[in-house]
Amino acid sequence: MLGAIEAGGTKFVLAVSDDQLNIVERVSVPTTTPDETFEKVFEFFDRFEVNAIGIGSFGPIDVNQDSSTYGYITSTPKTAWEHTDFIGKMKDRYAVPIGWTTDVNAAALGELTKGSAVGKKSCLYLTVGTGVGGGAVINGEPLEGFGHPEMGHILVRRHPEDAYEGNCPYHKDCLEGLAAGPAIEKRYGKKAQELAEDKKVWEIEAYYLAQALLSYTLILSPERIILGGGVMKQKQLFPLIRQEFARLLNDYVQTPDLNEYIIPPGLEDDAGITGCLILAQKAV
Ligand code: ADP
Ligand code: ZN
Repeated sequence: MLGAIEAGGTKFVLAVSDDQLNIVERVSVPTTTPDETFEKVFEFFDRFEVNAIGIGSFGPIDVNQDSSTYGYITSTPKTAWEHTDFIGKMKDRYAVPIGWTTDVNAAALGELTKGSAVGKKSCLYLTVGTGVGGGAVINGEPLEGFGHPEMGHILVRRHPEDAYEGNCPYHKDCLEGLAAGPAIEKRYGKKAQELAEDKKVWEIEAYYLAQALLSYTLILSPERIILGGGVMKQKQLFPLIRQEFARLLNDYVQTPDLNEYIIPPGLEDDAGITGCLILAQKAV
């Protein structure tokens, strides 16, 4: 059996599957303190014989195998979780191989194997929700370097009609600071989901996201870009983003047909947990 943990800032999704990735059981537990949360994690996995566990975690996390803090959640704004030895805690309890990467790299892996990017060798997954985070799988491997990508914090050109200063605690008006759900809420004084009918909101949102997608395309050339997260439930964003992306790219490089290139997740909200199961499979 394979075990998986999609460790998010608000909830942990725990699952076990057979070797063909069919989920046998899954539960969701709130992310509270590490002690409390790990207790729930152990309660769940103690009931199964798993051969490996795949973890896709919120971060920042340490993914560098040469580092003394490999497997830790590092400098997260969720202070109770700062410097948490995630892999260490799991290894103390279960003597099995552990796969470890970011939640968004895991989601990209899930989409590549069972979702919108099946049959491809590469894809990028961007979530636009409470924050903006991106992961990618390139040639079948999650994208990592000295650390992991932080695609939500790239700089973007400002929309000429946008006076909002941005709310990233590190950069103010980076992509996340201008385009994540809380930025929309602060700009207009209303939750993003209550602004569905307001055309300008989504035009500005698409303006920022298209710029980010242009950068990712020019740097990584992924075969698919998958956009998930709460804000992307506004499906009218997809055509707006494609249109702005085409305008910015100006035919400079040939991309896949944009209707097949910039797309929603095929696994909907299961991309992450599926990717974690695949990580476990790869770790065996
Ligand atoms: P998280 O990022 O915490 O995992 P979500 O992806 O659901 O969770 O992101 C939450 C953010 O997405 C909030 O800022 C919320 O306003 C926004 N959001 C959630 N649902 C929608 C929706 N249907 N339309 C627009 N924005 C939404
Ligand atoms: Zn930032």
